[in-house]
Amino acid sequence: MATKHPRLLKWFASGNPFFVLLKLVPLILLFCWLLTKGENSHLKGAFLFILGLVTWSFFEYATHRWFYHIVFKNKKVMWFLEAFHLYHHHNLTDYRVLNAGLFLIYPLALFFWLVVFLITFDVQLASCFGLGTLGYYFFYENVHYFIHYKVFTSGYMKFIQKYHLYHHYRKWNKNFGNTVTIWDRLLGTYDGGYKEFELSEDMKKELIHG
Ligand SMILES: [Zn+2]
Ligand SMILES: [Zn+2]
Repeated sequence: MATKHPRLLKWFASGNPFFVLLKLVPLILLFCWLLTKGENSHLKGAFLFILGLVTWSFFEYATHRWFYHIVFKNKKVMWFLEAFHLYHHHNLTDYRVLNAGLFLIYPLALFFWLVVFLITFDVQLASCFGLGTLGYYFFYENVHYFIHYKVFTSGYMKFIQKYHLYHHYRKWNKNFGNTVTIWDRLLGTYDGGYKEFELSEDMKKELIHG
């Protein structure tokens, strides 16, 4: 369990979105510097940026659905999952595992950058895409953190909090999206039951400021 692995927490998790941002700064600066290394049109750059946003939103859904909840035979993979996402499911009050750390952010962000670079052979376009993935990733980390922070009574945060906490408390095999519902709707894991779901007093106590 994560509580017994402080070193894992140090490298694979972040305490809150501010620490995520601090870890992202060198990557953001690198990608911004690489933006100056080309002469593509703004339109092309904007397209790659938006593609990066969409790609990360799907990646967020896909890893949650097809990786975090799968029971692997490999003990090391299971140990890792039980130290993070599955651990998060069983220990909602351990806020240390809500956000990802360096060893998750950097390999993934650089992997996505590299894939687009190998397709386009263009560091500028790959960096537009990279900034899109980082932008959506940071948005996701904020949403996930604040979903577990306090009860929201209106707007987007109320809707997405119900959507995500329904996944936690009611159906682990539905509503894998943490920020949008579109991938659940398209891929058959959407459950509208979250609309009637209300947080009990015990559930509220499991929020950071419950
Ligand atoms: Zn959660
Ligand atoms: Zn889950």
